[in-house]
Amino acid sequence: MKGKLFVISGPSGAGKSTITKLIVKREKTLFLSVSSTTRTPRSGEVNGVDYYFMSKDEFQKRIEKDEFVEYALVHGNYYGTLKSEIENKLNEGKNIILEIDVQGGEQVKKKFSDAVLVFCKAPSNEELEKRLRGRNTDSEDVIMLRLKNSLEEMKYESKYEKVIINREIEDSIIQLKKIIEEEVAK
Ligand code: 5GP
Repeated sequence: MKGKLFVISGPSGAGKSTITKLIVKREKTLFLSVSSTTRTPRSGEVNGVDYYFMSKDEFQKRIEKDEFVEYALVHGNYYGTLKSEIENKLNEGKNIILEIDVQGGEQVKKKFSDAVLVFCKAPSNEELEKRLRGRNTDSEDVIMLRLKNSLEEMKYESKYEKVIINREIEDSIIQLKKIIEEEVAK
């Protein structure tokens, strides 16, 4: 039997990456797809673990070779999921989670109609801004761009099958775990 594909998207700062990293650590049957990006690594990020960091040139070449399942321009950089990250694993029956933006989520759903789309959002815009500032990883320009883009991203919520309001990480992980278990059991 083929594995299931889960997509988690939502505004930057909502907490989806924390939730995703923790759940794949705990759930041994769930695998995280490592995305490719042209963004520069943040301090502490490791190539091949957090992302495959690559130049725009290399990303472009891979687009031309049709190596991506989906890709998008997000906050001024390219991000994409390589076919090689998911195809073999799905065929081996492994469940995979993609932590990608809303444009990518839409593309995945078109190619994999049974993919489960989960939207993760902060309880309010004020809380989102607080979290974005609190992580101390981005410059003011980047924070402002991400906040502006969050308004656009929120419009995709209705296209997503499941919504998690991330008030508290542990509670959100329980919600996501339940969604995954229910879908896998179908
Ligand atoms: P960050 O720069 O904070 O790591 O990620 C910025 C945005 O890019 C987030 O919304 C994240 O979900 C999205 N993203 C990460 N990887 C991918 C990917 O492979 N494809 C797409 N479409 N978006 C991605």
